[in-house]
Parts: sequence; structure tokens; C-alpha cells
Amino acid sequence: MLGPVILAASRSDRMRRLISAAPVTKQVVDRFIPGEDVDDIVPVVRNLADNGLELTMDVVGEDITNPVQAAAARDAYLELVDRLKPLELGTRAEMSVKLSMFGQALDDGHELALKNVRPVVEAAAEIGTTVTLDAEDHTTLDSMFAIHEELRKDFPQTGCVIQAYLFRTEADARRLAESGSRVRLVKGAYKEPASVAYQDKHEIDRAYVRILRTLMKGEGYPMIGSHDPRLIAIGQELAHQAGRKLDEYEFQMLYGIRTEEHLRLAAEGHRMRVYTAYGTDWYGYFMRRLAEKPANLRFFARSMLTK
Ligand code: FAD
Repeated sequence: MLGPVILAASRSDRMRRLISAAPVTKQVVDRFIPGEDVDDIVPVVRNLADNGLELTMDVVGEDITNPVQAAAARDAYLELVDRLKPLELGTRAEMSVKLSMFGQALDDGHELALKNVRPVVEAAAEIGTTVTLDAEDHTTLDSMFAIHEELRKDFPQTGCVIQAYLFRTEADARRLAESGSRVRLVKGAYKEPASVAYQDKHEIDRAYVRILRTLMKGEGYPMIGSHDPRLIAIGQELAHQAGRKLDEYEFQMLYGIRTEEHLRLAAEGHRMRVYTAYGTDWYGYFMRRLAEKPANLRFFARSMLTK
């Protein structure tokens, strides 16, 4: 029952100020977000790549409140592209972006987000890599899918994320699987009402399997975004049934979660991509990680009390 409470807190400015200022927070945050700026993150990228892992890089931040912040988000990603260029990793290091960080929720936000994200997608293409559009709460998704479609006219490799907990997603998956795009399937990390999303864990898992089957049978490139051992095994089986080779789908997990499993899958020859977030505006990302596993919250609370 703690999950929904933490997710509600993830949208509270008062909680944001309190948690961000707590003296021990940073050492707990570091487990999931291994750096505050691009200088911190380049060695992390190198290390993961040297271990046979691929990356998708996220500059943390969301729900910005003015166009200046949106432009700063764009510039942070452009700086990241500059720093990735000499590493010559190509698609082994791609980027994930949240359109709310590019201005999507502001006035004329759809156009603003598209205007800000396009240069990032262009710069990524210039160094031989690509961008995936993260999925945020359900009210943002029509705009996200429209921006995805627009970007794919020039950059067909642009990926997007779909969330198994939403009722709409089976139809989205059918559309996306036919069009041959890169699609990351996740369970979903936001607090969504029962009018649009399954609330029961087992129903979400069953939806995940149905949607993954559609993606695997389709013509796109499925990206299995989950740490759930059962879904990972089912993913392998569905890929096998669909006759896909190891380079025709991939697994994705978050930095700091089930790290030994990242290495195990890579050692088995799977493409394993680690979602690696960095930056100073980590509050929303961090709170969703706490909500996913109450044990994280206990660890966090214990470290506050023993300080
Ligand atoms: P769960 O059943 O939640 O977890 C399975 C097991 O994994 C747990 O038992 C535990 O051992 C471990 N685990 C999972 N989460 C944690 C954690 N936080 N801390 C410690 N252990 C944990 N959601 C979105 O809504 N939009 C996105 O764009 C998005 N992008 C994502 C990208 C990637 C690469 C991944 C892996 C997830 C992303 N998510 C996104 C989050 C996702 O929706 C889930 O909230 C998250 O992955 C937890 O679900 P799970 O499939 O891992 O299964």
C-alpha cells in the first residue's frame, strides 16, 4: 500500500524540498543515479560498455515550469551527445528523454517539446545513435505518440515506451508493431486511476505478456524493460517462438537494480541495455524507484535515523 503514497509524494513540491535537503539522501540516491553531471557519467558509461553492456542515458528532470528550463534540458542532452562522440559507441549508448522536461506541459507545449527534442534527435543521429521517448502519465501520451510519429519521418530509429498497466496499450502495441519501430515495454511507474489502468499486479503482468507477444510477432524491435525474472524468462521464450535472433530484441534494466542479472544476460549473448540516469533534479526519478520496492524506503528511512 506504500507505493501509491510515495507516488503521490513524488508530485509534491513540499516533499521535494524536504527529501532533497535531507543530509543522507545523496548517498541513497547514488545507488540509482550515479552522478550529478556529465563529467561524473562518462567513466560510468565506459565501465558499463567495457562490461559488455549497452546504455540508454537519461538526464533526470521532468515537469519543468518555464521555456528557459526546457531549453536548458535540450542543451544538457546536446552536451551529453558531445561527450559521447569520442567514445564511438554508436547505438550502444543511446538516450532516453522525458518530453515534460522539454516543455510538453507548458502553453503550446506539444510544439515546444517537439522543437526542443528535434535537435537532440538530430545530434544523436550524427554520432550514429538514437533517442527513445519515455512514457510519462497517461495524459501526456497522445502528444508523445504524435511527436514520436513526427520524428520518425526523418529518424525512423526513434524509439518510444509503452506501459502494460494502461488499457490503451494493447492497441498502441498493435499499431507500433506494424510500423517497425523500436518499442520499450514496461509495466508503468505512475499513479494512474482505475478508469485508465489495471491496478492489480497480476493483471498488469498478464497484460505485459499479451503485449510482448504482439511486439515479438510484429515487425518492430522489442525492448523488454523489466527486472521481473518471470517476465524475462517469458520474453526469451516469446522471442524464440517468434523466430527472433539475439540481435532482434533486447533487455533493458535500470542502473542499480539487479546488477548481477545485467551481467548474466549479457554473458549469455543477449543485448542488455542499462538505463543510466544522472543529474541534479533526481527527485521524481528517485521517488518512483522507492515506490517500486518498499524495501528501498525502509533502507532510506533507516539511513535517515542512524545519521
Ligand atoms: P517489478 O515486479 O516491480 O520488479 C521485479 C523485481 O525487480 C522486484 O521483485 C525487485 O527484485 C526488482 N526491482 C524492481 N524495481 C526495483 C526498485 N526500484 N528497487 C529495487 N529492486 C527493484 N516506467 C514508465 O512509466 N515509463 C518509462 O518510460 C519507463 N522506462 C523504464 C525503462 C527501463 C529500462 C526500465 C527497466 C523501467 C522503466 N520504467 C518506466 C519503470 C517500469 O514501469 C517499472 O516501474 C519498473 O521497471 C518496475 O517494474 P518491473 O518490471 O521491474 O517489475
